[in-house]
Amino acid sequence: MKEAVAGELAAAYDSAIVDRVRANDFRHESGRLTVHLAREFGFCYGVDRAVDYAYQARRRFPGRHVFLTGEIIHNPHVNDRLRGAGIRFLSDAGERADLLGADDVVILPAFGVTVSDMAQLSSQGCTLVDTTCGSVLNVWKNVVRYAQDGFTSIIHGKVKHEETRATASQALKYPNGRYLIVLDHEEAAIVCSYIRSGGDRDAFLARVAGTVSPGFDPDRDLTRIGCANQTTMLMTESLAIGEMFRDAMRERYGEAALASHFRAFDTICSATQERQDAVIALLAEQPLDLMLVVGGYNSSNTCNLACICNEKVRTYHIAEPECLISADEVRYRPVSVPCSAGGIQEIAHGWLPTSGPVAVGLTAGASTPNNIVGEVIRKLAAFCGPEMAA
Ligand code: SF4
Repeated sequence: MKEAVAGELAAAYDSAIVDRVRANDFRHESGRLTVHLAREFGFCYGVDRAVDYAYQARRRFPGRHVFLTGEIIHNPHVNDRLRGAGIRFLSDAGERADLLGADDVVILPAFGVTVSDMAQLSSQGCTLVDTTCGSVLNVWKNVVRYAQDGFTSIIHGKVKHEETRATASQALKYPNGRYLIVLDHEEAAIVCSYIRSGGDRDAFLARVAGTVSPGFDPDRDLTRIGCANQTTMLMTESLAIGEMFRDAMRERYGEAALASHFRAFDTICSATQERQDAVIALLAEQPLDLMLVVGGYNSSNTCNLACICNEKVRTYHIAEPECLISADEVRYRPVSVPCSAGGIQEIAHGWLPTSGPVAVGLTAGASTPNNIVGEVIRKLAAFCGPEMAA
């Protein structure tokens, strides 16, 4: 059904403005405004495919109820459009996954679902449309191999994120499979310290409660570990955390035995890496007055782009064009608010310089479609000078 939905997708998510900016060396100039667009931004291959499959599923099964297990991607605009197209969300109030049956179609999102959710939906006879991204499947493959070989998966990720929960569940496919999830350096340091020198086992277990597999025993389960990560984490942080664990295992077991106690592989997806690299290049190449990062507040890769930008220039992470309330007022998620905290927003005044040339950097997370990016550019242009064509 790909061709059948191509026009509908283009009408919903493409942007002539973005096409023009891209053709103009990722730059838009109007009046005193210059917008510098990152060279990689917006929809990644996995999200593109997931949204495409959702529209195809709606067409393919016209007489049947079509469900999503939850948000297909972390973008409110895209999710609302899918609701508008008649796709129901099992995460919405009143929906019951346990009541689904053979007549129902269920779309699994790009970041995948847990092994138990998949098994339940299959056992109920639902038709499954699996849009799990290939990059996520690659992580799962490695985590399953760790479990098979008796290694505990150390997952750098957000414990409540759907992808991390799904990845962790893969570790439990084998009886001896174990996992431990770490969010950041601080949490990794606590685990590394236990690896090096042990400590109070109960205090350690209390500290990692909720982030480990059932029955986790640090004295048994931290002797052979393999690193993996949520695909959308900050690449530099994931690599640094991997090195922390490598160093800890080397100290504990010695260089000669390291290979039988420690494994690692890079599971940041290429789309995430390209978007992070592009924004780092933009910040290095262009003097900017401010940076706008567009994407859902619960989108991990968008939050990480905002973190990178905020270290160099005043940055506003906005969920949608409507957040640009006026040339004076912007509604945004402060970078200090954790991504998992959801929709906490603040209002800032005087965000856009009121006179003289203004250079705005712009990027968007992997779940943000071009029409949203285009609308942000159009609003910026309207605040700084003449209206531009749609
Ligand atoms: S961010 Fe990466 S892993 Fe996630 S859907 Fe996009 S390409 Fe796939």
